[in-house]
Amino acid sequence: MNRKTFLITSLGFLGWRDLAQFKIQKTYSISELTGKGLTDLYSLKIPLLKTVAKAFLEMQNEAKKENISIEIVSGYRSYNKQKIIWNRKFNSNAINGLKIQKNIKKIIEYSTVPGTSRHHWGTDVDLIDGSKTKEGDVLITKKFNEKGTYWELKKWMDKNAENFGFVLAYTNDPGRKGFNYEPWHYSFAPISVPMLKSYLDLNLKEVLITSGLEGKEYLSHDFISKYIDEHILGINHILKSF
Ligand SMILES: [Zn+2]
Repeated sequence: MNRKTFLITSLGFLGWRDLAQFKIQKTYSISELTGKGLTDLYSLKIPLLKTVAKAFLEMQNEAKKENISIEIVSGYRSYNKQKIIWNRKFNSNAINGLKIQKNIKKIIEYSTVPGTSRHHWGTDVDLIDGSKTKEGDVLITKKFNEKGTYWELKKWMDKNAENFGFVLAYTNDPGRKGFNYEPWHYSFAPISVPMLKSYLDLNLKEVLITSGLEGKEYLSHDFISKYIDEHILGINHILKSF
């Protein structure tokens, strides 16, 4: 049995309470954790870590049998790409008159501070059903609700995704803080759980205060503590099971 088969069948068989058994012994560097140096990437048009890409392809094949065409709209994202998104939103909010504090509060409803995105890890994906006609913005919550374009995908993922290692990160649990509900964002837990553990050991203040980031003067010690608590840890409890 090769490693991939072992991983996938074991996850399905053992269930998530035994996630700790999948000790991925590698330690992760600051650059790997912040979108500045992940090397083990495999490109399915959109790059992901190799192990994640393999698990994704297995899941995609299974879904295909039930006429669901899982398509990745976002996978690995570099620090620089996240910085471009951040600065664009910041400048646009500023033009619309938002003061720095409100500006950042608005950005972090959906977007991460560069250096803190789970998409930097190559383990997280935003998914849609590629067989459906794309109209406007695809990552809209109501499109994943009952009678929405991606309702069938959503139902399939609810039932099957965890058997392949993919866990919904930003659930609609009312007790969860941080980012809004994102029914499209899944994380490959066998790798993202140990990555998060490694990530929490970093000095985030050092990571975040980087030249060229708009609004960086607002990223104080208090802001960062709250951000870790609510945004970085405001995720599905399965993804914190280390
Ligand atoms: Zn996402």
